Formats: sequence, C-alpha cells, structure tokens
Amino acid sequence: MNASPATTARFLRVTGVVQGVGFRPFVYRLATHHSLGGWVRNVAGTVEIHIEGDVEELEAFQAELRTEAPPIARIDALELASALACGANDFRIVESADAEGIRPVTPDLAMCAECEAELFDPNDRRYRHPFITCTNCGPRYTIVRSLPYDRERTSMALFRKCAVCDAEYQSPDDRRYHAETVACPDCGPQVWLVRADGLALSHEDGAIREAAAQLKMGLIVAIRGIGGFHLACDATNDQAVRRLRERKQRDAKPLAVMVRTIGQAGALGTISLQEALLLCSPERPVVLIERADESPIAPSVSPGLDRTGVMISYTPLHHLLLEDVGRPLVMTSGNLSEEPIAIDNEEALLRLKGIADLFLLHDREILSRVDDSVARVVDGKPVLLRRARGYAPLTLRLPVSSPRTLIAVGPHLKNTFTLVSHNAAHVSPHIGDLDSVESLDHFRATLDRYEDLFRITPEVAVHDLHPGYLSTRLAEEMELEGIIAVQHHHAHVAAVAAEHGITSPVVGLAFDGTGFGDDGNVWGAETLVADLNGYKRAAHLRYVPLPGGDLAAREPWRVALGYLSLDTGAGDAFALAFRGIDEGLRANAERQIERRLIAPLASSMGRLFDAASAVLGLRQRASYEGQAAMELEALAGSQPAEPLAMELCDTNGVIVIDPVPLLAALGEQRQKGVDVGLLAARFHESIVHMAGAVAVKVADAASIDTVALGGGSFQNARLLSGIRRYLEARGLNVLVPRQLGPNDGAISFGQAAVASSLLARGD
Ligand code: ZN
Ligand code: ZN
Ligand code: FE
Repeated sequence: MNASPATTARFLRVTGVVQGVGFRPFVYRLATHHSLGGWVRNVAGTVEIHIEGDVEELEAFQAELRTEAPPIARIDALELASALACGANDFRIVESADAEGIRPVTPDLAMCAECEAELFDPNDRRYRHPFITCTNCGPRYTIVRSLPYDRERTSMALFRKCAVCDAEYQSPDDRRYHAETVACPDCGPQVWLVRADGLALSHEDGAIREAAAQLKMGLIVAIRGIGGFHLACDATNDQAVRRLRERKQRDAKPLAVMVRTIGQAGALGTISLQEALLLCSPERPVVLIERADESPIAPSVSPGLDRTGVMISYTPLHHLLLEDVGRPLVMTSGNLSEEPIAIDNEEALLRLKGIADLFLLHDREILSRVDDSVARVVDGKPVLLRRARGYAPLTLRLPVSSPRTLIAVGPHLKNTFTLVSHNAAHVSPHIGDLDSVESLDHFRATLDRYEDLFRITPEVAVHDLHPGYLSTRLAEEMELEGIIAVQHHHAHVAAVAAEHGITSPVVGLAFDGTGFGDDGNVWGAETLVADLNGYKRAAHLRYVPLPGGDLAAREPWRVALGYLSLDTGAGDAFALAFRGIDEGLRANAERQIERRLIAPLASSMGRLFDAASAVLGLRQRASYEGQAAMELEALAGSQPAEPLAMELCDTNGVIVIDPVPLLAALGEQRQKGVDVGLLAARFHESIVHMAGAVAVKVADAASIDTVALGGGSFQNARLLSGIRRYLEARGLNVLVPRQLGPNDGAISFGQAAVASSLLARGD
C-alpha cells in the first residue's frame, strides 16, 4: 500500500537504560495509541524506532516518549532523523538486530506492585508463583548470557513458555507483552527444599511452606535468590542468630534483616521519608535505619551499633517466605566469612554444608554473582556503602574520554573493577576482599562477563600503587599494552570529582583506614590538592608507628601504644587503652616501635578512631575493620559537643596535624568520669573542625573553591555531614559521593578517571 500524502515518517534512536525495562512494549502502546505505523527494535544497547502517520500524532508521540516512559527506563539521548514513509499502517516489535556499540545491561529489579498483587491473589493463575515477573520487574543482569536482551540469551531459555504465557507475551495489551522473563506455575522454574545431605524434602509451594515452618523453629536455611544464596534465620531469635554467626565464622559484623513491607520495617526503627523511598525503590538496597528501643530484632544481629540494616523483600520467593514466617528474617550472604557468595545449587550444598540446616533451591540459573547493595541516608540523601544488586551494571560516565580501552582493577579490600571504553565506565558490582582463591576467581569470572556483555577488550591495565596487592599482580599478569599505577587517595578524590564531572583542581579530603602512600608509608588521612592528572599532598595526620603492622588494624590498643610513643608523657591519659593487656605482648609491641621493626608509619583516620576507642576504654580488639569507628559513631549519636584541640604545624609547606593532645584529653576526661557518649561526640566534632579548618586553609592558599570528600571514613554520617556543613558554611562547594560509595568500592572508578585523563593528555 502506498503512503497517503499526509504521511510523515521519522526515525528515532534512543540511548540510555532502554532494554529489559519494558521500553519496546511501551513504544508499541504509544504508537498504537496515536494510530502510527512502523516498528521498534533493540539494536545493541539502543532502541530504534521507525514511525509514520499524521504529523501531529507524531509530535505527540515524540513528546510522550520522554514523559510517559516506564519509571525504570532512563533516556540519555534521543536522535531524530526524517525517513521515507513505507506505508506501514500497523506497528510492530521486530527482531533484535545485533551490532557493535555501547551495550547497557539493566540491573535486577525488585518485584513490582502489580506482580505482588497477583502473587497474593488466590484467584490469579500465578497465585504464589515464586518466579512471577513482568516487563517492569524481575532479574536481568543475573540471568543475561549475552545481548541483546531476549529470552533465548538468558537463563530463562530452558523454560519453554506455555500457550497461556505465550499468548500474554504476544498480546500488546497485556502487561507481560514481550516480557522476556514471563513464566507461570505450568512452565516456569521450580523450587524445592533439601536437607544438607541432599535429600529432597518437599517441592513447589510445599517447599516454601516447609522452609518457613523450619525457620520459625530456629533453623538456618540457605535460600537461592537472584544474585546468589542467602543464609536466613529468624531475626528475633537470638539463639538462632548466634548459631548462624558461629557457623559462618562471622563474629560481630552486623547482619542484614529482611521484612516484607514498609510497615514491618517501621516496627524495627525510625524511618525518614527518604529512607522509606530508598527501602521501597526498585533497587531495594539494605538501608541502615536507626533502631527502635522496642525493636524485636535480636541484639546479636548488630551488637554495639545503633542501626539495623533492613531491606524489603525484592523477589516473589522472598515475599512468600516472609509472609509465611510472619517475622523478620536475617538475610546474610551465603558464604563462609569473607568469601564470595555461592550461586549454584551444587556449590551451595558443598560450601554451605556446615552452616545451613536446609536448602531452598531453584532451577533458574544465576549467571552473575551479585550481593545485596547497602546504603544509608545522610542529610536526606542516599549514600551507597556497597554498590551491587539493583545498581550494577548501570554505566557511569567519565568526564574525560579515554583514547584506549581500560581495565582498572581496584584496590585490595571491598574490591570492584571498572572496564572503560571511551567515556563509558562499567563499574563491577562489589567483589569483596581479594585475599582468597575464591575471591580472585570471582573477580576473573565477573570480568569475563563484563568483557562479554560490553564487548570491551582492555588495552591498558590500571592498578593501585601498592606493589604487594593481589590486584596489582592481577593487572601485571594481564600483560596488556600499557600499565598505569594510581595512588589510593588520589583515586578516592578523583572518583568523587569524576562522578560530578569535575576536571578542574579540587581540595580532596581522603579519609580511610589504609592506602599505600608515595613515600612508602601508610596513608589514610590525606588532604590533597588534586585534579584527574595528579595531586599534591597538602596535609596529613602526624605519622604514628603501628606495632604489629596489619595486626594493629584489628587491635586498637596497639595504635594507642603507637601514639603514646610520640609523647611518652601522656602515659596516664592513655591508661585505659592497655588495661588488662598482657605485659609481654605490650613489651613486645614497644620493642617493635623502638627498633622500627614491623612498625610501619601511618597517617590514618581509621586508626585514629581506633586509638580514640582504646583510650576511652571502649575497645582494645576489633573483630572487623571499622568496628571501633562504627561504635564510636553510635555512642556519639547526634548529641551536640564542643571540639577539643589538636595541634597543627607546617613542615616544608605540608600541614601536619598532631592528634596526641586530643587523645590525651579524651583519656583524661573519661577517667574523670565524663560520659563516654559525650566524649565520642567531642571526638567527632574535633575531627570535623580540624579537617574543616585545614581544608579551608588549603583551599584559600590554592585559590580553589571546591572540596571533594572520599574514603571509607565518610561512611560515618556524623563526619560526612559535619565536614560538609562546616565547609559549606564557609562558602565552599562540597562534592559528596553519590553514584558510588565513599569507600574503596569507588577506587576502581577513580583509577579509571585518572588513567583516562592521563591517556587523553598523551601520557
Ligand atoms: Zn512486575
Ligand atoms: Zn506459563
Ligand atoms: Fe580507601
């Protein structure tokens, strides 16, 4: 048929998060609504649309393409060209075309409200179907084998759609129209419950009901989820939680709790509007909320802390379990201590044998391992503490496009990597600490997936300056055309600047536990003047010897001893730090300091928190990194306090901050009986004022008006908020981590930003 004279035709290309989010069905409905003909298809990471018809309808279509798009879609760019009308009088979704290009993959999304309604509707054919999904929700990244996103290239390929599901898939009016994950009890994946010895106990709905009953009895159940296994137990049962800790060899590190509704989350603590929005978002991170006094959660879930990590169930399977159990569940990653989470049924039965009593399995393969994300709200805005499910693998943008493809391998702890092509930075989900064979395998497997999905073969490797890190060795072993080392705290500052698109010099405060300094010492309380190409160290904490080296990160009394060696006159004030410590141990540590043997010098904010905790008599030994700091933050709460003094001195143009007077004052006041919470608050205020004053001074001297805050210490809300306010009150523009967290999870992105900039400059 020939096009009528009134027919106009246009070609549109839409870039952004447009695949796996119901974008094509949306386009179909919109075009049909406006009586337009043509087609829509996925091409690599973009969506191409050909439309033709009445010009007014066409204009309306274009406008609504932006305003009416599905909530989880994100349009970054819309290219428009006129086209030749081909007489199409209907609109079709056509087969995906495969081509090169930027290829965004959608993160896994929490079950939507419509699916939830069906899940609990006894009259719905998907009543209690644990794999209910639609075009707006369900797994994506974890089930995608390759792109473009179509069922045959996902782990749903094994499940042949039944006639009813297929009819829904084909029907433009159905909300599962072209939903690649569509399934039902007749054709979808199955669940079953087995004992630790592999014996199957029950199947399908019976398995979920039995798992729930056993959880209520206090047993530990390993549950196969979306990005891996969880270990679950009744969060209100202290004994069950303790048993889980013992078996998992996880001493005191807080555990996440899952509830089914926002109302149930509200029973556990005080929730602000922003926290509620974050809890209910399609990303569904674990959110740290302030624990209510009457919280039913067992104290062993987050000992010594004032917050509970809560998430709302995001898969239908979790919803069913929680509904049946009727109380909050601990949902912690299915692994031993710091290893990666298990994803396969066989693997879980093997690795979690000694931990779980029962295993709730399913047969939808998990192709990418991804942990739960963790976030908290500071000053009304989310701060990511771990970026994984729901966020990865969304692509971030670099302010300077790289002329070569890159792999930035990240740091040693809380590792992520970043794969770069041009200005697209593909930051991996949280991988974890790179100190086991399993975590290295996890790193390599995830990198393989990323190289596949994004079709990037890296030409240059970027790594931390630390020669001993396994990540550094990984980068060297890749034997690429080029290799670039980036200092840890430079990477922290670059990450924050780059995510805000800033390339001009900033004052960077990089506060964390440890990073290799360019003088060979341990850095971690650094004020830098930096841009993406380089940095100058403008201020730092006075160096303290850390007797025992790495051991000092777990034994705050050692850090206190190190500080005492700088001013031996402060002995009385430091007394609480060493109460009950074995004399021999202490003498040995003193020898290490004297002889400068296994006593590296450190300027570290994390260690300063440890020392403060020790001199206040709170903690001499920690069972996880950051424990002392988290407890101090909890003790300080939000009570107001005056700062105590620290000394500043100028050494060859570098400001050195001496915290010994502060530690001595804390110790003295504590021994005089001053409330420990007030002292914790004073400690925080002292750091805020000291860091703020130094930053202002450095900014003035360098004529810079922007300050970037990065590093794991800024996971501390009082510090982050306090320093930001201090600087803003003095007219400075403050950059805070948003898309990535403050901690080492952002290092690979910072490394990528620095390397891109250096390569673009021709270095
Ligand atoms: Zn849905
Ligand atoms: Zn079906
Ligand atoms: Fe760091």
